[in-house]
Amino acid sequence: MTKVVRSPAAWQRLRASALRGKSVGFVPTMGALHAGHLSLLRRSKRENGVTVASIFVNPTQFNDKKDLEKYPRPLAQDLALLNSAGADYLFLPDFRAMYPDGYRYKVTENDLSRALCGAHRPGHFDGVLTVVMKLLNIIGADRAYFGEKDYQQYLLVKGMAEAFFLRAKIIPCPTVREKSGLALSSRNALLPPKLKPLAPELRRALVESSSARAAAKTLARKGFKVDYVEDRLGRRFAAAYLGTVRLIDNVKI
Ligand code: AMP
Repeated sequence: MTKVVRSPAAWQRLRASALRGKSVGFVPTMGALHAGHLSLLRRSKRENGVTVASIFVNPTQFNDKKDLEKYPRPLAQDLALLNSAGADYLFLPDFRAMYPDGYRYKVTENDLSRALCGAHRPGHFDGVLTVVMKLLNIIGADRAYFGEKDYQQYLLVKGMAEAFFLRAKIIPCPTVREKSGLALSSRNALLPPKLKPLAPELRRALVESSSARAAAKTLARKGFKVDYVEDRLGRRFAAAYLGTVRLIDNVKI
């Protein structure tokens, strides 16, 4: 059974007593779990004595209030999935527990966080880095697992862990996709059935186009509203809207 812990202090007591000396693997999420999240959990279970997931829909990383409101929160279903995946603990804090300071303090990165998604979502990565710093400090994990679906996020978190000498090793995990090539994402559930068949075109355009520009053109022609397509660090990154749902993806080039 996955045990639920809601308060940072309760978790820290547990970490210092029953879990003392054990290797702890950590999978932070915003819930609405799918096979992508479960692949991170499986890897953590292979590499650690204890695996803890967290679910926290972090308001400070949402620059769009509507996006935050409509973010799916199927908690009962998530708990059932965590149970069947064999997660030992779920850390499930609320906003007050995570932000006793009311977000007066934050972690900022001044380079990569301004590019790609950061250029289109002001403050997004400040919110991400701040909440991940808090979570890593609370959980006391030895290893923390992040998906390459959010490759920019993975790079920023890894850089933060190194810059601040955090204890956790940040481990990247490959993107899990549908057969169609569409990267699994909690936001896919929000796609209207009429638009869903178009969604796999995002990855196809990234893989098959001769340049980022050509990919952006193809996507616009197919009905996406493109935020960006950009080649960087040996990868091709993109974010684009289908209707009101923002999808992101990246592939190696
Ligand atoms: P989220 O709940 O969307 O914040 O994601 C929590 C973690 O799961 C992040 O490290 C994501 O990169 C990772 N993740 C989300 N979707 C996928 C996927 N399709 N494949 C692999 N990892 C994923």
